[in-house]
Amino acid sequence: MEKQNVPEIFGSMVFDDRVMRARLSADVYSSLKKTIDENEKLDEEVAEAVALQMRDWAVEKGATHFTHWFQPLTGVTAEKHDSFITPSPDGGVIMEFSGKELIKGEPDASSFPSGGLRATFEARGYTAWDPTSYAFIKDHTLCIPTAFCSYSGDALDKKTPLLRSMQALDRQAKRILKLFGVEAKYVRTSVGPEQEYFLIDKEMFEKRPDLVYTGRTLFGAMPPKGQELDDHYFGVIKPRVTAFMEDLNAELWKLGILAKTEHNEVAPAQHELAPIFSTTNVATDKNQLTMEIMQKVARKHGMVCLLHEKPFAGVNGSGKHNNWSMATDTGMNLLSPGETPYENAQFLLFLCAVIQAVDDYQDLLRLSVATAGNDHRLGANEAPPAIISVFLGDELSGILDAIKNDTPYEGTEKVIMKLGVHTLPRFSRDTTDRNRTSPFAFTGNKFEFRSLGSSNSIACCNIMLNAAVAESLKQFADKLEGSGNFESDLHELIKETIKKHERILFNGNGYGEEWVKEATEVRGLSNLKTTADAMPHLLDQKNMNMLMAHNVFTESELRSRYEIMLENYAKTVNIEGHTMVDMVRKNYLPAIEEYLYSLAKTTSLMKSVSSQVKCNYEITTMERLSELTDNILDKVKDLEEALETLKGYEDITKSSEAVRDDVIPKMESLRKYVDEAEMLTSEECWPVPSYGKLLFSVY
Ligand code: ADP
Ligand code: MG
Repeated sequence: MEKQNVPEIFGSMVFDDRVMRARLSADVYSSLKKTIDENEKLDEEVAEAVALQMRDWAVEKGATHFTHWFQPLTGVTAEKHDSFITPSPDGGVIMEFSGKELIKGEPDASSFPSGGLRATFEARGYTAWDPTSYAFIKDHTLCIPTAFCSYSGDALDKKTPLLRSMQALDRQAKRILKLFGVEAKYVRTSVGPEQEYFLIDKEMFEKRPDLVYTGRTLFGAMPPKGQELDDHYFGVIKPRVTAFMEDLNAELWKLGILAKTEHNEVAPAQHELAPIFSTTNVATDKNQLTMEIMQKVARKHGMVCLLHEKPFAGVNGSGKHNNWSMATDTGMNLLSPGETPYENAQFLLFLCAVIQAVDDYQDLLRLSVATAGNDHRLGANEAPPAIISVFLGDELSGILDAIKNDTPYEGTEKVIMKLGVHTLPRFSRDTTDRNRTSPFAFTGNKFEFRSLGSSNSIACCNIMLNAAVAESLKQFADKLEGSGNFESDLHELIKETIKKHERILFNGNGYGEEWVKEATEVRGLSNLKTTADAMPHLLDQKNMNMLMAHNVFTESELRSRYEIMLENYAKTVNIEGHTMVDMVRKNYLPAIEEYLYSLAKTTSLMKSVSSQVKCNYEITTMERLSELTDNILDKVKDLEEALETLKGYEDITKSSEAVRDDVIPKMESLRKYVDEAEMLTSEECWPVPSYGKLLFSVY
């Protein structure tokens, strides 16, 4: 590949601040900046001027079309392209793009999931420009990040509630900062999402109907080698993968995505990409784009990028780590211990706000990452458990303990911690990042939420996290505003919060059996193992109240999301079930039959030549395989029945329970017999590539 001039290509396809400053008049620029930074209403004339410059810039870069780019509740992004062309009187065309077209679009919304939000007679929805996320060019199309709503104003997407949750947090965090004498223009949350994925050979992929239809293998016996040698993690990257990564980086950089680190992950064929963090809604847009571009670039290299949470049984699945913090416009990280005792008190208060939020809304955080795919990981000893807890590390835990008990803290000097008087030690990442089994870990100056699945939109968990933290901050501000003795009331508040929520703090091994027992039986933490278990909590009164109080969701939006998420779960598993039936009946049973035939033929031929031959191998294999085909037939019939029953349910809660209790167990028991048959059948007869081929074929 030719040498890249990174600073030159970086952001070359983005209408970013550099371009705006260079192209917009000073007035237009400063007015747009006010909209971006301070949420001020956008002037129509300003929009017109921006649209003009955007069009010129895009056309210069070779764009012919524009689209409002949005994130409907399907979890992927959507775009409808319109070209810039307008007929001119002389029979030709001119390239046009108006302020109106920039600000608002009206895609036909009827085929996007709405969970009953949009009445069928009102098929239209509208998209509205999000000026805080830069427009960019992809495939000759100017893409304008937008929110997507129904005409009655209900959010039909993931961006709208995310922006609302950021506003809620901004409002409450500024109230707290004021108490500490800090005047901030805004407080924003930042996220750096680490993205895991698998790369497999495209030819192999295409031979597996399960991968093609569902993104994961539904069958497959274990290969002789898996990840037991730990030789893949951070290992030397194979040339084909290196070429892919170089290409991917270049594409991402052009789009202004700060792709920073890349390495091999634990499982064979598994890799990770991490960008440098950015504002949450921007990070969300960019993560969606990253996932899309990974898949595109992989194809160009003859590979397929699998973003499914569990493409292969028996080796690790893929997740996403959501590194999250809050910062002011001047760059003050509210989760970073400060230099002075006063700053430290402020840090501890924000820390407590997060601890309380995670404890009070464990269920919301859990359900925000719930999908059929991610259910395979959580609690499977490779990912944090479905139980949500917070890791702080020994040092910070020691400090909180000392505050809680009014006992001396054994830091550099033995002191009774008095907030606002004593300095805290700075926590280095080394001392805080040792535990990799915690779902929600403090890592020095940010929290890392590790329960996300690799294909999840990061919008969902950040909506819940922002809203829950906004609620804690609101409660704190309500108590502290108008306090007669700020310092002692603050001290009491922090002490009380630690006491009340210490059950959520856990520094031990989150993968252990003992933890499940302690968490659920002693501490009363929730352990919502599947999507069907988790999702109903979205409609718990306490959760609805909180989300509605902060204007993050309306009641009807919550009900619609409940429907859509569960429907997605049921549909996903339903497709998997049907794919299994299809593969068993059309591929596996006929293949085993063919092998049985050749064994039987060989046996009778051999016996006809000599009466001495025992044909032990042929006969025992035949007997077991024949037994297995009977079992497979029984199990596939069971599964067919379960899938048929599913059709009868009107109620989505009932059908998701049937998926969990009936369909999934039947899929698992069918798989067992097929996988055993694979081990007994000649590879030549086996109709699809084995795990070994899938996992080790890319060099
Ligand atoms: P890990 O050890 O978990 O693999 P990395 O350093 O690879 O850690 O990734 C950490 C991620 O956290 C990066 O995306 C980084 O930009 C992000 N990050 C760092 N500081 C912050 C912060 N203050 N807020 C949000 N994200 C952050
Ligand atoms: Mg990480």
